[in-house]
Amino acid sequence: MTFTQQVISNKLRGGGYKSGVIFFEYNHAKKSFNLRKNHTYSIRYNFNFMVNVQQINMLNQLKGNDFVLAVVDSIGHQFTDQYGRRHSSAGLTNGTGGPAVVSYDHWKKDRYLSVHEFFHTLGLRDIENSDKNNRLMYHLGDNIGQVISELEKGDMMQFIMKNIIDMTKNSYSYSNANRNTVNLLRTFLNDKTNGFKYNKAKFR
Ligand SMILES: [Zn+2]
Repeated sequence: MTFTQQVISNKLRGGGYKSGVIFFEYNHAKKSFNLRKNHTYSIRYNFNFMVNVQQINMLNQLKGNDFVLAVVDSIGHQFTDQYGRRHSSAGLTNGTGGPAVVSYDHWKKDRYLSVHEFFHTLGLRDIENSDKNNRLMYHLGDNIGQVISELEKGDMMQFIMKNIIDMTKNSYSYSNANRNTVNLLRTFLNDKTNGFKYNKAKFR
């Protein structure tokens, strides 16, 4: 837990960069966004993140806006890479927002796996180009590093601040209590195409 928390914090530190971001036009005089007009920006993000990774014993400890990483016994799902080779999945993530799932054996062998899956929930995609096998999001097994690029950081920060509309209403809250995290996890775990094996008694 501590390791995962530290790596996520370290990787998100130092801001990020993204160009071609379409967002509301900013009015400097009024110091507010014009919600009726769009503008294209190059954004340098500079956020401080507090990361808190917690182990839970009961599903009812989950809150609507939590990110979930579930550890299961095994994953039957396989994928084909861009070179046509088949691979077993060590982890699977249900798109942006999650939940993310990792298999226990792979997680023990590769402590960066959970961070890889978590960053899928923040909008990053897998990398398969062999000249980028020093990157955390490279997922073909022969990784030689865990680099996150500034552009990837920019992508994650853009995802995190998507609901900037809420900020313009002076409610600096990102909580999304209505998101049914437990239900999303249940649906993802029970989706047969994912081939998860897990102790069902632990996920009630
Ligand atoms: Zn991946």
